[in-house]
Amino acid sequence: MKNLNILVIGGGIGGLTAAIAATRRGFSVDVIERDPKWAVYGVGILQQGNVVRAMSDLGLVGDYLAAGFGFDHVEIFVPSGQSVARIATPRLVQGLPANVGIGRRALHKVLGDRAVASGARVRLGVTAEALDDGGEGVDVRFSDGSAGRYDVVVGADGLNSKTREMLFPEAPAPEYTGQSVWRHNFPRGEVNCLCVYEGPTGVGLIPLSERLMYMYVTTPEPGNPWYPRGDLAAAMRDKLKSVPAPAIRGLAEQITDDEEVVYRPLECVFLQGPWHKGRIVLLGDAVHATTPHLGQGGGMAIEDAIVLAEELARANDLEAAFGAYRTRRFERCRYIVEASRAICFGQLGKGPLIENSKATREMFIKVAEPI
Ligand SMILES: Cc1cc2nc3c(=O)[nH]c(=O)nc-3n(C[C@H](O)[C@H](O)[C@H](O)COP(=O)(O)OP(=O)(O)OC[C@H]3O[C@@H](n4cnc5c(N)ncnc54)[C@H](O)[C@@H]3O)c2cc1C
Repeated sequence: MKNLNILVIGGGIGGLTAAIAATRRGFSVDVIERDPKWAVYGVGILQQGNVVRAMSDLGLVGDYLAAGFGFDHVEIFVPSGQSVARIATPRLVQGLPANVGIGRRALHKVLGDRAVASGARVRLGVTAEALDDGGEGVDVRFSDGSAGRYDVVVGADGLNSKTREMLFPEAPAPEYTGQSVWRHNFPRGEVNCLCVYEGPTGVGLIPLSERLMYMYVTTPEPGNPWYPRGDLAAAMRDKLKSVPAPAIRGLAEQITDDEEVVYRPLECVFLQGPWHKGRIVLLGDAVHATTPHLGQGGGMAIEDAIVLAEELARANDLEAAFGAYRTRRFERCRYIVEASRAICFGQLGKGPLIENSKATREMFIKVAEPI
């Protein structure tokens, strides 16, 4: 298909990548983003070779690598802080790193700048109030009183997607796992790869740039308690008090500013049924939100966006394009959501304990497969 007029709902990782991939195919793209400030929290994420490959396919890899920190190893530490293994991870693009740590804001800037430069029109503080798919096009009524008609609407509005709710009101709601993540940035120091600290409290350090790294701490949080913002630094320090590794103890003492702590309960959702209805299709967390145990949620959203644009360009009609898109994405995304959830549940004692290094090795093999 040619000359499609596409609305993307959600200017996050998946929505912006969809805008970039679709404009590269010659489609016209509007993006609406609910947040008038288009704000992104300050810590970072870990991505692997499949995202490096995707960025390379999108012509973005130079900007992407310049904004993050590439590395090829994972180092494992026992709880006392002694390093016990340094495991090489596979590169998927010759000459480019196997993993990248990148600040969420840095990634957002890379994707946002390119989406806008590619010609996508981004409107902030706007949502879709009504989507009326009459068969020949989708009539959209926006929250700012304006309206538009589109050939395709892409719901990339994340975990709590309103588009998913409108399309599939019977779809399962996101499931709270019982675990949460605490994150905080620090000066990078000597940390030059993913450093995983074993033990009852899961801790890791991930470099983000020449200057910065972030720490994540996973903790069981039965009942999904609410932590007042003013208590976050003390609470995160408290969660770390049983971790004996001197490096972690030293960092814990530096956690004093509540505003610098990012706390997130971990939820997941996966749509077993269709991923589209008529002219409206879902991607990213809206259709398969994962816990971060394999560091692949953002990667799956990015890959979805590339595959969707490819299928829209290749197919002769939307049903064929959306069908092919879901077929290519379903098993890979289901695997990531289920394998990540299994690690999480094992850590919580809600399922068999999963050997993290084995699961990570398997993940690297799976995501190395072409999309
Ligand atoms: C604690 C934690 C750690 C993570 N760590 C990693 C990691 O290390 N590596 C990794 O790859 N992934 C990680 N992820 C997952 C990753 O963040 C998500 O998979 C990714 O952001 C999904 O992209 P998305 O575009 O689908 O959704 P989002 O990035 O959430 O974007 C959705 C966008 O839609 C907007 N929006 C919402 N509703 C509306 C609406 N009604 N109208 C308009 N706009 C709307 C939102 O404001 C947002 O900008 C992590 C997730 C969590 C929770």
